[in-house]
Amino acid sequence: MIRKNLEVVLAAPRGFCAGVERAIAIVEKALQKFGPPVYVRHEIVHNKYVVEDLQKRGAIFVDEVDQIPEGAVTIFSAHGVSDKVEKDAKERNLPVIDATCPLVTKVHLEAKKHEKYQKEIILIGHEGHPEVEGTAGRVKQKVVLVSSPEDVKKITVKNPNNLAYVTQTTLSVDDTTNIINALKQRFPNIQGPSTKDICYATQNRQNAVKLLAKEVDLILVIGSVNSSNSNRLRDLGESMGVSSYLIDGAQGIQMKWLQNISKIGITAGASAPEILIDETLRFLDNYFSIAVRTLEGIEENVRFKLPALLD
Ligand code: SF4
Repeated sequence: MIRKNLEVVLAAPRGFCAGVERAIAIVEKALQKFGPPVYVRHEIVHNKYVVEDLQKRGAIFVDEVDQIPEGAVTIFSAHGVSDKVEKDAKERNLPVIDATCPLVTKVHLEAKKHEKYQKEIILIGHEGHPEVEGTAGRVKQKVVLVSSPEDVKKITVKNPNNLAYVTQTTLSVDDTTNIINALKQRFPNIQGPSTKDICYATQNRQNAVKLLAKEVDLILVIGSVNSSNSNRLRDLGESMGVSSYLIDGAQGIQMKWLQNISKIGITAGASAPEILIDETLRFLDNYFSIAVRTLEGIEENVRFKLPALLD
């Protein structure tokens, strides 16, 4: 049978960011140094493959620290935690290794600084996301959460001239710009970091999808359904008029998507390993005669140090 030609274009950069690499390395090194099990509060990063792989090697993922036996090695996920979670762990004498991404910690410190200067804080982010819970829980006041320009119209604040905002790190750059513009329009004296809280990896992967969407008929985003930055890549592809699907790996591909497609784009969220891209290419190679090419993109040189205990 003659296989149909399929051009495959890979986005660059894609996949693991420095914060995810560090968080996974922390769990791996903790398993090596202390032996299994090690307990991880929340999924270390939002990726099914990564979590299942670490589970096989002896990591136990829990929702809260009260599920961790006294004295057991405890790791906080890359998304960060609130002051309360840190305090709960201390009260239970849990030896904690913190895998919070340094770029999330930076946002925590910004929020704390605004509180020190008695600002009322608006947090741009998605309700229920662990990073949002962590950042909100780093200050004593109840932050005002907004997720859209419409939310900005509805919120009530104590003093419109004494506001500051911070953002989740994995948002859509374009949507966040619209929210910030709405905030500045309604509260001209609000202080904040433009879109700089959105991390380099999120920004670079979104820029790469913008390039990809210009030249392909369909985009596959490798990433898990609970991964915020992966969802934003899918949304971005769709917003540029290209059918875009978020899949955990090759097994998520539906052949009907590929009918009448001659050029397919593939990217991966910041928590998705490259092995899932390789699997996807092998899958496509079974059905098509594929020609693979990688788009030119920015080279990332960001690396974060491991905690001294594990270095
Ligand atoms: S996506 Fe950004 S904030 Fe999240 S872990 Fe990666 S570098 Fe850190």
